[in-house]
Amino acid sequence: MASMSSIHSHVRETIQVDYSGSTPLPHIRKAGWAAARLLFTLCSALSVISVVGCYLLSPLFTYWFFGSGRFWKYLRLTLPVIRFSYYLAYLTLRGQSVRSFPWTGPPMSGPDRRAVQINPDWIHAESCGDCGKCCRKIQCPFLDREKGHCLSYNSFYWRYFNCGRYPSTQEEIDLYQCPKWIVRKSA
Ligand code: SF4
Repeated sequence: MASMSSIHSHVRETIQVDYSGSTPLPHIRKAGWAAARLLFTLCSALSVISVVGCYLLSPLFTYWFFGSGRFWKYLRLTLPVIRFSYYLAYLTLRGQSVRSFPWTGPPMSGPDRRAVQINPDWIHAESCGDCGKCCRKIQCPFLDREKGHCLSYNSFYWRYFNCGRYPSTQEEIDLYQCPKWIVRKSA
């Protein structure tokens, strides 16, 4: 899912980062992306189950979620993120969230434009405006409801998992009733 951006400065710019031709060893890059995801997933699972792990590894998590090692700034989010992890697992099991991501796929800061395009009726261009439907539907704790932007925008978590690459199919668009994206007819 995507993260919300406000009308003002937090534009969800759909930046496409092309990693495909940037190395003569694409398999090594794919292995690196998969390893990074695996490390995150293992650390997250152990930490959420133990709870104490969330505090012990907090500098790592704040780097992953916010691109910052200043974990003390984000301690207030620890319990909401633990709760969110369980809620997301519940939604995933019920088929009410975007289910998967490609383990070996490149990190992305925007959906694949070969699969989707911006709805011609959408008035905010590349920005999500003040929408935030996807963030609210999953009760994402990274949505700053006062300022209306995503605290995790363009972070490791955002780019390596589902936020940055949302949406890729009509099913995903329908899931959050996203008004911005439509599937390309040729896709
Ligand atoms: S539902 Fe669509 S338009 Fe709304 S915030 Fe999410 S990605 Fe952006």
